[in-house]
Amino acid sequence: MRSPLVYSPRYNTSLSQFGIDKPFALDRGQSVLERLSEEFGEDFPYELPAPVELDDVLLVHTERYLKSLSDPNVWIEIMEFKGAEYRPEEATRPLNELIDDILLKCGGTLLAAEIALEQGLSANLGGGYHHAFPDCGRGFCVLHDIAIAARSLQKRNLCKSIMIVDLDFHQGDGTALVFSGDPSVYTLSVHSEEGWPEEKQRSDLDVSIRSDETHLYLEKAKQSLLKALDEFEPELCIYVAGSDPYELDVLPGTSFIKLDLEQMRARDEFVIDTFADRKIPLTSVFAGGYGPDVWHVHYWATRHMLVRAGALPNVPAGHST
Ligand SMILES: [Zn+2]
Repeated sequence: MRSPLVYSPRYNTSLSQFGIDKPFALDRGQSVLERLSEEFGEDFPYELPAPVELDDVLLVHTERYLKSLSDPNVWIEIMEFKGAEYRPEEATRPLNELIDDILLKCGGTLLAAEIALEQGLSANLGGGYHHAFPDCGRGFCVLHDIAIAARSLQKRNLCKSIMIVDLDFHQGDGTALVFSGDPSVYTLSVHSEEGWPEEKQRSDLDVSIRSDETHLYLEKAKQSLLKALDEFEPELCIYVAGSDPYELDVLPGTSFIKLDLEQMRARDEFVIDTFADRKIPLTSVFAGGYGPDVWHVHYWATRHMLVRAGALPNVPAGHST
């Protein structure tokens, strides 16, 4: 049996070498693994991904867009650098070399999905670039790893019907656009009404939460997931488990929804349990989450998934789930 966790030490790309100072929290996977290893007293095993194949990327993105990524200016736009967030004079590598980081994490999402289909539950400790459009990158998202994984699995007949459950703070607009009119992939997005993007796309099921409805978030998220499962029977769920609705997320644009850790845990556990109880394979990706504290959300979600997968060496007393 393979480890349900997909990760590479190369996920924790040093952004300073690119002259970037932005709280992208690329170390979330490392923090989750360190905490798991601390808690369970041994290095937690994980599966190493390979970079995704170009043929798979082209199942979602246009060749013209991929070519444009050799231009560092295209990256400046996608990453929305403001002021001192990007200092090219301090960079030792050009921005376009970030593509290696992205291709590896796309490969990670695909590998995690394959493991979920084989074993039931898995997680890529990274990825979740749900804003990328076929012909352009947006909102920090260069390549749509989730869509690439879905299309690649379908191409190889590993699965037909896929549900993408997106509970990131921001609408999964790239996902909605890519799969618009595709009956084989069901897209659910629960997101902030006021948050970016201002112009939303149409998912199969959208639930917009206004800032004065934060107290209803959990109930609405749960109801919408059950409604989605009434409408569609997936063979696989890809869960976009953004931690940016968390109250300690530092991105100014995510201030419209502030859930505490207990609410975030309840959210993630509900999604994992709903699919695990129905024996529908589920894999998850990190997606949004900014600053030094958001990894705690992913830690509890990952831990819960591992317990459900029967993959924890032992659960310490007092740590029942
Ligand atoms: Zn987000």
